[in-house]
Amino acid sequence: MKSNQSIINLLLASTVIYTTTQKNKSKHMLYANPNFRANPPSRSETPTSPMLTPSPNPTNVTSSEMATTINNTMNITPSTNETEMMDSETLPDRSQLLQALYAADSASNMNPTSTGPFTLPPLEYDFDALEPYIDERTLRIHHQKLHKAYVDNLNAALSRHPEFYGATLDQLLIFPDRLPSDIQTQVTNNAGGHYNHSLMWKVMDPSTKSRPTGEFAKAVSTQFGSFENLKRNLKTAGESVFGSGYAYLALNPYGRLIIVTTSNEATPVPLRTIPLLPIDMWEHAYYLKHQDRRSDYIDDYFNVINWERVGARYEAASQVLTPPPQ
Ligand code: MN
Repeated sequence: MKSNQSIINLLLASTVIYTTTQKNKSKHMLYANPNFRANPPSRSETPTSPMLTPSPNPTNVTSSEMATTINNTMNITPSTNETEMMDSETLPDRSQLLQALYAADSASNMNPTSTGPFTLPPLEYDFDALEPYIDERTLRIHHQKLHKAYVDNLNAALSRHPEFYGATLDQLLIFPDRLPSDIQTQVTNNAGGHYNHSLMWKVMDPSTKSRPTGEFAKAVSTQFGSFENLKRNLKTAGESVFGSGYAYLALNPYGRLIIVTTSNEATPVPLRTIPLLPIDMWEHAYYLKHQDRRSDYIDDYFNVINWERVGARYEAASQVLTPPPQ
């Protein structure tokens, strides 16, 4: 419990940087940002998927993950202006997180209720539509070869226990401990790859010069000071990814925007956050055009982000995670 409390305090600190090693060896670095605190969410029901039977004590899994997290903490910058103490009992359970993820994915047109065997989702634009920022050859290979490989490998793993074809992608991400141990790693890695790329295609848009609007714009302004500052923070996080991985804008369980980095194809979901915007920092995402110029790649990527869709994810997930004002 002490470890849980500590990590919750870290999640809520105004400036936090930590690295953790998950059970699957995925590393996360998280930057929790400023002075914002939403009401803690209400608890919710148990999962309804017939294909994903709850383990006898699923909360213990998360507790041990959190304990693992705290044991690997480094580079902590303590909070100087906040002493938030949040009881671990107020963390949303994973069924509530699933509902928030469904809401966000629906809002970005991802069809989250579909189940396996999974298929490669088509792009909503042509392969050359993101030129000159993302080149046609990179996008074609990225979608047709690399993303497809994650889908194929996910299906191959699930085919060994076909009853899990009945699970949605979001369920696979949130309840990996309910998978048979012989496919757990392969499913987790490839479901992450499938999810990360499916989301990325949806938040890119060839014609956009959009900016955050509405409640999302307010949150950006409150928590990061400005839209430009949010992008600066995301860029710094992207540049900090060591090896292959992602920088992510995500929503934490208390309705706070955070920036997190993940290794390989891990998603931010194991941190009980809702992914909003990924930046793919694998070399395959940029090397043909940008070579080693990661900074230029991130600048170009920002030119094709559909911020309205990112905001739609934020608003949809917020409504699930945060109780409406009384
Ligand atoms: Mn990729």
